[in-house]
Amino acid sequence: MNSGLITVSYIAASILFILSLGGLSNQESARRGNFYGIIGMGLAIVFTLLAPKMGGFAILIPVMLIGGAVGAVVAARVEMTAMPQLVAGFHSFVGLAAVLVGVANYLDTSVHYASHVERVIHEAEIFIGVFIGGITFTGSIIAFGKLQGVITSKPLGLPGRHGLNFAMILFSIYLGSLFIGANPPHSQLLPLMIMTLISFVLGAHLVMAIGGADMPVVVSMLNSYSGWAAAATGFMLSNDVLIVVGSLVGSSGAILSYIMCRAMARSFISVILGGFGSEGGTVAASSASTEQGTVTSITVDETAALLKDSKSVIIIPGYGMAVAQAQHPVFEMTKFLRDRGCNVRFAIHPVAGRLPGHMNVLLAEAKVPYDIVLEMDEINQDFPTTDVAIVLGANDIVNPGAQDDASSPIYGMPVLECWKAGTVIVSKRSMASGYSGVDNPLFYKDNTRMLFGDAKKTVEAVLAAVKQ
Ligand code: NDP
Repeated sequence: MNSGLITVSYIAASILFILSLGGLSNQESARRGNFYGIIGMGLAIVFTLLAPKMGGFAILIPVMLIGGAVGAVVAARVEMTAMPQLVAGFHSFVGLAAVLVGVANYLDTSVHYASHVERVIHEAEIFIGVFIGGITFTGSIIAFGKLQGVITSKPLGLPGRHGLNFAMILFSIYLGSLFIGANPPHSQLLPLMIMTLISFVLGAHLVMAIGGADMPVVVSMLNSYSGWAAAATGFMLSNDVLIVVGSLVGSSGAILSYIMCRAMARSFISVILGGFGSEGGTVAASSASTEQGTVTSITVDETAALLKDSKSVIIIPGYGMAVAQAQHPVFEMTKFLRDRGCNVRFAIHPVAGRLPGHMNVLLAEAKVPYDIVLEMDEINQDFPTTDVAIVLGANDIVNPGAQDDASSPIYGMPVLECWKAGTVIVSKRSMASGYSGVDNPLFYKDNTRMLFGDAKKTVEAVLAAVKQ
């Protein structure tokens, strides 16, 4: 096909990707944003297949069909709560693809360079692309394991770990000096392979060092790395649309990570460097072994009576609401209470659940109006004038230890100050800790009442009781 037409289609695809990102930044336009993204990706794939020098369709088409079918089945079956693991898994594929494309590109002896400078540039692209790809590959696998719960969410604090990371980076630079521009061409596979192994170790080590509550930032950082890996692959393959898409993903992931770091009062650089400057590994210091006080539980009927007498209620949804799929009965209860004149609102913490915007998606799915769903900064000051705060399957995001326990691994992370409300009702199944593995002093406060049970069943029971 005419290469001019392909360039035009790539520009169209790039514009669609930009529109897609713009759409995804807002709940109301997110569906449209997704649609633009799908069309853009469809265009990019079709016109890449039609590009000159494309061949091997007998292998390419079946492989694409099998990959597409597996992806569709996996994505359709995955629970909403397991979405972050799926995303981390997909990132690992992007990283692995960058590694494989880089090595294959180097081994391809049919490539001829017009000048030495051109070769140096191309080999630098390969080296950097493989390095970023390797970090993304193993880092994403560890992130998958942590999110899936098969690897502990506690930070791994090896002695001298920052020195180790630094040494690995320095040695990789030395290997790069052996690899790039070496004579004769294609003769330096060994430094490339050793650097690949180092990047695998580095990626795994960087993510292992990050504690549970900082995982959201890691997921978005890996998202960003996968974008840069894709952009590097685009350079290796001289594919413009891959360079543009990779850069968009890379930069938007970096911006998201920065926003999340700010929301969690974490240093951006410290998270990128695998918890540099944090005291990692302190989970035990503030945890369960210490006697915290007495826990007071509450029954469904008592909760219903309390809610009937309340003029203002703030509901704080967390990961447990997603697990229980309690968003629909919660909205039923919200409507009922609002019809009785009670001011019911939702408070959303930036890292509630396991995915940026996780709670917003669930509440939108239950058709909760956007104007009663407020971000942490918009609602935190309203708790002292609120009768009842309902903590629905949330834990880390309402942990007062983040404000007053300097030994806590989540110290410094802004939290929803629900304990300032008249009464706090915590709906969860047990006294178990949240994702960060830290005990929660909220459960022992005088004005806290524990409502034990599955969030959905509990809310349904409370709804039935308030309606009586
Ligand atoms: P948490 O993981 O801190 O707590 C969730 C609570 O829900 C648990 O304590 C659990 O207690 C309870 N729960 C689980 N299932 C149910 C159920 N069926 N019914 C009722 N309760 C249930 O969640 P938060 O939303 O408070 O905080 C999110 C955490 O996840 C933070 O640490 C954040 O850093 C991390 N994270 C967030 C990501 C993001 O992008 N948002 C990504 C990765 C990690 P019990 O077992 O007793 O019921």
